[in-house]
Amino acid sequence: MKPYIRILDTTLRDGEQTPGVHLDVEEKIAIAQEIAGLGVDTLEAGFPASSPGDFEAVRRIAGMVRGCEVAALCRCRPQDIAAAAEALAPAERPVIHLVLGISEIHLEKKLGMSRAAAARSIAECTRIARSHAAAVQFSFEDATRADPIFLRQCVDTAIEHGATRVNLADTVGCALPQDFGALVSGIVAFAGPDIIVSAHCHNDMGLATANTIAAIQRGARQVEVTVNGIGERAGNTALEEVAVILHATGMARHGLDLTRIAALSARVAAATGVPVQPNRPVVGRNAFAHSSGIHQDGILKAPEIYEHVRPQWVGVAGHRFILTARSGRHAVAHVARENGFAVAAEELDSVYAGFIAQADATRGEVGVECLRAVVERVRSAPARRVAARGVVREYKFARSAWHLLDY
Ligand code: MN
Repeated sequence: MKPYIRILDTTLRDGEQTPGVHLDVEEKIAIAQEIAGLGVDTLEAGFPASSPGDFEAVRRIAGMVRGCEVAALCRCRPQDIAAAAEALAPAERPVIHLVLGISEIHLEKKLGMSRAAAARSIAECTRIARSHAAAVQFSFEDATRADPIFLRQCVDTAIEHGATRVNLADTVGCALPQDFGALVSGIVAFAGPDIIVSAHCHNDMGLATANTIAAIQRGARQVEVTVNGIGERAGNTALEEVAVILHATGMARHGLDLTRIAALSARVAAATGVPVQPNRPVVGRNAFAHSSGIHQDGILKAPEIYEHVRPQWVGVAGHRFILTARSGRHAVAHVARENGFAVAAEELDSVYAGFIAQADATRGEVGVECLRAVVERVRSAPARRVAARGVVREYKFARSAWHLLDY
């Protein structure tokens, strides 16, 4: 049987670290319910020691969300662990998530800590966390820039003192897929079958999803993601991209209900005020939009000609046609029919001529209402039809010669 990949959603923790984003408690609770409904295995609700508001959000989410684990982040500090444990007390299945930077850059320049002190801190904090929760995840921040030998020593120490999961973070998004896959594979073999090895990637070089998939292919049993890929700087691995890849390839089993993705994406964009880029995979406004006449014609013949990822997988009703001066008659007639104002065969030349004139005049998309107006104009002005037909012929000739006339 194919391996099961656990999904840890950190939209409410790492995602909320997106520059300029702050969600209030009620918004966090509403989003948490939707993320849980998507079928994630673990929902990271926040960082309780960071603020009273976040403590409150984690505590209320822990009391409300059922059916998945609830995790809370803490630094390697006893007071952070105490705050996380208290906030998670109402949770059905709490996960205490410890984090420590273990690269030389983090140890020397950020923490002012020796390797020996880091190892002692990992041991002590993991022990304390384990006294509060059966599931303890230790995250090695900046693992991809750490000394690989020291990383193994840290993994060994965390496991020895009770960590049940180890998470390798490519904190600055500097890893390449093959290298990250190899790092994960080495830690999977080293940690043994009882330990869940997890991957946490950032998108600074546009490789977060590629690195996450490489981790899955090399034995990671959990990946950490955010809705719309929101997060610090260029963001985190996008939940929706990983979900679609798992679905399309069948590389691993998972518990996600993909059909809820579009609604969740819209909700997170609205709540955070971070709009989704139109050409963003899966959730962008144009992800299932077709603009050129050649593509629209292909989609009408058979969607698979130009669609690998299907809109229906992620809860989008269907593809969308953008009508522009590049669109053909086939698409114009289709959009009119779909919107309840079907154009008869003998009207199509006139309507198409009117449409092209409109598209060139507006130099962009001709919306459905605009097309409707064109159709009505053509129908109510029989005298102009003759002229319009003339234009069409001229246009067709021009098109076959591969340039457009300016009307
Ligand atoms: Mn992160």
